Amino acid sequence: MRPSWAEVDLGAVAHNVGLLVERAAPAAVCAVVKADAYGHGAVPVARAALDAGATWLAVALVEEAAELRADGIDAPILLLSEARPDEFADVAALDLRPTVYTPVGIAAAAATGAPLRLHLKVDTGMHRVGAAPDEALHLARSVVEDPRLELEAVWTHCAVADEPERRFTAEQLGRLDAVLAELSAAGIEVPMTHAANSAAAIAHPAARRSLVRCGIAVYGVDPSAELAGTLPLRPALTLRSEVSFVKRVAAGEGISYGLHHTFDRETTVATVPVGYADGVRRRLGLLHQQVLIGGRRRPIAGVVTMDQLMVDCGDDPVTAGDEVVLIGRQGDEAVRATEWAAALETIGYEITCAIGPRVPRRYL
Ligand SMILES: *Cc1c(COP(=O)(O)O)cnc(C)c1O
Repeated sequence: MRPSWAEVDLGAVAHNVGLLVERAAPAAVCAVVKADAYGHGAVPVARAALDAGATWLAVALVEEAAELRADGIDAPILLLSEARPDEFADVAALDLRPTVYTPVGIAAAAATGAPLRLHLKVDTGMHRVGAAPDEALHLARSVVEDPRLELEAVWTHCAVADEPERRFTAEQLGRLDAVLAELSAAGIEVPMTHAANSAAAIAHPAARRSLVRCGIAVYGVDPSAELAGTLPLRPALTLRSEVSFVKRVAAGEGISYGLHHTFDRETTVATVPVGYADGVRRRLGLLHQQVLIGGRRRPIAGVVTMDQLMVDCGDDPVTAGDEVVLIGRQGDEAVRATEWAAALETIGYEITCAIGPRVPRRYL
């Protein structure tokens, strides 16, 4: 078997959830485990998070919830977007807390005949999904008028919570509060409200409400550079491999497809059996992203190929079988997912989510 794998430290997940529980209290912590727990493995992460004090889970897709239920996880599961009408039978069978924001969605929930607890999502400014604030009362009424449906929550999602200096988060919370006040004036009391993702849970106390929906922080990845270090999160994921092949390459020779990189001195090149099909982006080689071998930072040389990449090891004594850490810690050195993200002009989320299904996950 290829010696490339992602090690997921469930102790780190528990540590991070513990920090979030403490920070968000009295709000409950909902661990967001969509996209296979951002590449970490949904079922093991969900169990670790629940053991560490999270009381809710959230997913994007009905089939993601089905995977958790099939494993016997019975915690409340919030479905973050409105299901299609033909999915509501499964929503009911899986006992999910469905998000709704259209008359069609509410009618589909009612048509199941099941006693569903709905979370009405209001779009307060991100403009991805959600009911417009001026539609909320009408939708809320149609929920509470159905004796089998309960309006358990009214909620929203923050667009810029990871940039704490921007005022728009307060603006969004104000729009949410206006909706809640309007419902209350109409005699509709809603037991829960929620607005915070990880960044808001960490940095915006006013967003914490009944529940905080935390994804990225659970995995120990800072939501943004601005928030780095605000909570002492521990990265849960290590991407490891081993050197598969070593050779000396002469000065003046190029390397990898396109020969985009030319060595200006004779050097030792180590080949590592992990590539862009595993989520190690091709361009990281052109950007000279470093990996850890023998406790030292060494740059990738040339483009990353589908299954393999090459590392310029200089005159280091490297041999086949040496451990390579692409993301994670080795000795005193560490490479974080956010380092790749900065190089690639993206966010840490995209890095861990991209680690493909071909990479086995091993749990600590
Ligand atoms: C993915 C998602 C979250 C989690 O966001 P993080 O920034 O990872 O904490 C919360 N709420 C909604 C609606 C989401 O889609």
